[in-house]
Amino acid sequence: MKLVAPCPPAQIDEGSAAAIEHVDRPFAETAPSCLIQGPGAVKKIAVPHRYRALCLFEITNFVILRRHLGREEAERLIPSFIRVIADQSPDIRLTATGRATAELSFECDDPEHASRTVDLLRSCLPLMGVGGGSYPVSTRFGLAVAPGRNCDELRLIEAAEAALDEARSQDPIVVRDLSCAELAFDRLAMMRELPRAIARGEMFIHYQPKVHVRRQKVASAEALLRWHHPTHGLIAPGDFIGVAEEAGEIGALTLWTMRRVIEDQKRLAAAGHDIPLFLNISGMLLADAAFVAEACEIVSGSDAKLGFEITETAVIRDPESAIRHLQNFARIGVQLAIDDYGAGLSSLAYLKQLPARELKIDKMFVLQLTSSNRDPLIVRSTIDLAHALEMEVTAEGVETPSALALLSVMGCDMVQGFLISRPVALDALLTFLHEDAHLTSGVGGLSPFARPESFWKRA
Ligand code: C2E
Ligand code: CA
Ligand code: CA
Repeated sequence: MKLVAPCPPAQIDEGSAAAIEHVDRPFAETAPSCLIQGPGAVKKIAVPHRYRALCLFEITNFVILRRHLGREEAERLIPSFIRVIADQSPDIRLTATGRATAELSFECDDPEHASRTVDLLRSCLPLMGVGGGSYPVSTRFGLAVAPGRNCDELRLIEAAEAALDEARSQDPIVVRDLSCAELAFDRLAMMRELPRAIARGEMFIHYQPKVHVRRQKVASAEALLRWHHPTHGLIAPGDFIGVAEEAGEIGALTLWTMRRVIEDQKRLAAAGHDIPLFLNISGMLLADAAFVAEACEIVSGSDAKLGFEITETAVIRDPESAIRHLQNFARIGVQLAIDDYGAGLSSLAYLKQLPARELKIDKMFVLQLTSSNRDPLIVRSTIDLAHALEMEVTAEGVETPSALALLSVMGCDMVQGFLISRPVALDALLTFLHEDAHLTSGVGGLSPFARPESFWKRA
């Protein structure tokens, strides 16, 4: 089987000797690198791709295979699958995300191209010859494709997760094309549809844990809202919270979220994980007496452990009523955290007056912690300042073990970020907490870096 994605002759890099590859590859024809034929070989050429694809893959019959093949051989399936693809198509970046799961990311020409690539990957899996070819490996794939190199990473990941979820009940390959969502859904249309979205059950919540570094335990989790639109797919809060504020819908949306989070907190507590759940409260709501009254009524009527994350800018807008309202919340047992610290205007005068026990350093300082000169200084002094004010510090956006190591040395109390867990559905949070409880009892007293790699690398 030969040949390749079409590519304009002008872009051929004839001189790239390192790019010469042989074409006895089952899926070379649609694989993301662009190949041209030579005598018995092909040359790979650099072609700018217009789309990014992220594909989550899982072996659906892993448990059965393990029973037949034994644990060791079964656990070699994903690594050998990765080796096969890496050999065939070096431009696909692969990560094993579990015993039976992997993540593939690559650039492609369009969603159709991405889909063909995944189709071919799937069809070449039986070639792996598991157990001498007698045990077929069955698989499913969730693929998300978005235009441009600078597409929203989080959106891509969550769309791929949603596609994999769908693949569990439908076809073995489900594709989500995010380009349609971007093209057609403008703010006005969103404003019109938002009120109905709650009633139609299109909103849902994902939770992202915050881990206490010294105690080695999940201390709490943050609720992050998502909108699953029937035709536009997954919409991230960054795209609709501002619209909800503008449309006057943010109060209703937040009260809906609060009721849901209370139910979910009760479920966690009933499962033996009675940790507080934090929700984000828009600044404009802090000055809204009617909202505050209703929120207080909902919270006091429940015995759930709740926290609110608020930004400092929210307080600066109307300090008097915001501080009064925050004190009302604190009085009824709501824990308060200052969100996005350092990203907006900061005022030490207000910081001192807020009944908050937690300060979250904005991820813009944490993401570049180990590559910038100034960010570590800012983070260090923020940690010292918060401790002087008797607050605990959370660093959000912790993506790498080196950032975690530095934060731990700096005395940061809690960490949150993709290294530990992406925002996940409640059931996945429950599994995470359950595993964490086992891990904690097993590693008591060890440093955070003594935790197994699998703990810090969640899908
Ligand atoms: P936020 O409160 O600052 O939440 C953190 C954002 O960073 C989340 O994005 C989260 O998914 C993302 N994040 C977490 N860990 C990492 C990491 O390691 N690296 C990177 N690059 N990003 C990470 P998300 O879920 O898209 O939320 C965006 C914003 O939308 C939130 O920022 C929050 O301000 C707002 N939001 C979300 N849910 C609600 C809500 O229910 N009400 C209100 N008012 N705002 C909400
Ligand atoms: Ca937040
Ligand atoms: Ca934040």
